[in-house]
Amino acid sequence: MIVYLNGEFLPIEEAKISVLDRGFIYGDGVYELIPVYRRKSFRLPQHLTRLQHSLDGIRLTNPHTDAQWTSIVGEIIARQPYEDQGVYFQVTRGVAKRDHTFPKDVPATVFMMSNPLATPSADQIECGVAVVTAEDNRWRRCDLKTISLVGNVLMRQLAADAGGVETVMFRDGHLTEASASNVLIVKGGVIVAPPKDELILPGITYGATWEFAREAGIPFEIRPVPKEEALAADEMWLTSSTKEVLAITTVDGRPFAGGKPGPLFRKMHALFQARKPR
Ligand code: PMP
Repeated sequence: MIVYLNGEFLPIEEAKISVLDRGFIYGDGVYELIPVYRRKSFRLPQHLTRLQHSLDGIRLTNPHTDAQWTSIVGEIIARQPYEDQGVYFQVTRGVAKRDHTFPKDVPATVFMMSNPLATPSADQIECGVAVVTAEDNRWRRCDLKTISLVGNVLMRQLAADAGGVETVMFRDGHLTEASASNVLIVKGGVIVAPPKDELILPGITYGATWEFAREAGIPFEIRPVPKEEALAADEMWLTSSTKEVLAITTVDGRPFAGGKPGPLFRKMHALFQARKPR
């Protein structure tokens, strides 16, 4: 695999960074993951806008313009043998003597790679997926896509330990999101999603779902979702760049919403497939 590191394209085995990189020492950096279908990136401008939001949030200067990012992403896609890809990149606060305070005049570290895109299986789309639930104990800036993911990692492992794909989280009695996905519910023919505040990542797929619903005339409400309402919803979905839209059919080991994907999920899934670059 050819990856990008600080201005160079090179085989992944040759890509090396210092152990003093602040990404390694502090998790001091941000990242993005962009789905690529048939070598065309999906919603790259939206991902670059969110990157800027994350960089502003951790007070790190963007090392590249959007045009430069677009060109590096294009080059990394072209250098892989597969058509559908997940482009991952991260920007850290660079290499410096260990000290919490920001280092002065240190260039950011920029790393990019692209793996084959792992989209949901036909079975997951047909039958839905299992989740577990947990209290959201992460910090209060979940809107920043930082590489410090240990909170999310611990959450995801709860699901894995129970044979599920995600952990759906609640904070102070309200739905937030899952360990690496947004969570939307359906009640009485209306899609309901929690507000994009500091407690959730503003998912690009969540945004796409909102747009596709609006175009198709499906009502979409953005408001806090009480836990009891989520757990009694007609449908519950996961959205993310790799999961696209998936129906949740098992919650904490019990069948949810009749144990099969609902009609609005089927509609949204079809809208999504029709709008992907093909
Ligand atoms: N929330 C979290 C915590 C995530 O890690 C992700 C995936 N990166 C999402 C939501 C979904 O975001 P997107 O649709 O942009 O992939």
